[in-house]
Amino acid sequence: MIHALPMLPYAEGALEPFISARTLGLHHGKHHKGYVDRLNTLIAGTKYAGLSLEAVVTASAGQPETSEIFNNAAQAWNHAFYWRSLSPTGGGHPPADLRVLIEASFGSVDACRTELARVAVSQFGSGWAWLVLEGGRIRAIGTANADVPQTLLKPLLVIDVWEHAYYLDHENRRADYVEAVLDRLVNWEFALQNVGR
Ligand code: FE
Repeated sequence: MIHALPMLPYAEGALEPFISARTLGLHHGKHHKGYVDRLNTLIAGTKYAGLSLEAVVTASAGQPETSEIFNNAAQAWNHAFYWRSLSPTGGGHPPADLRVLIEASFGSVDACRTELARVAVSQFGSGWAWLVLEGGRIRAIGTANADVPQTLLKPLLVIDVWEHAYYLDHENRRADYVEAVLDRLVNWEFALQNVGR
């Protein structure tokens, strides 16, 4: 199986001015594509060659000798999930079914946003900030580098906090990028779809 770079679910300029077309073009066309291309090279002719992307991530996790395969497969998966976690019509209020779950988990939507932003801003170095579902409750967690949430946690949405996600637009101000994502871009509908998956 040759893994393909998924198309962005919107135009490169659709998230401006919060994420520029230049950032999105490089992030998708160079960074994400680089992970997919490298993965295809690494797995050609190996036991991973016939597996789905999710299966490659699972099968290569936690083993030093397959760390390069894991890193590229996980980054390919994480980026595809990140594009869908954003929307040109995002931000605003979560749909009612998701709001109920957020309020049961964090007390309020504001508290959820605050906690996700805290996780995103405090993630040291490169990584990801997630909302995940665990035992019927939503939690905010960070993962480093290419790492994905543990198998028992169901990812609902993710924010890329690698510098390549925001540096051209927000320089070193990761908090400004995270706030813009939460205010204007976060795709609550996608998060709700993932609750039911
Ligand atoms: Fe990225």
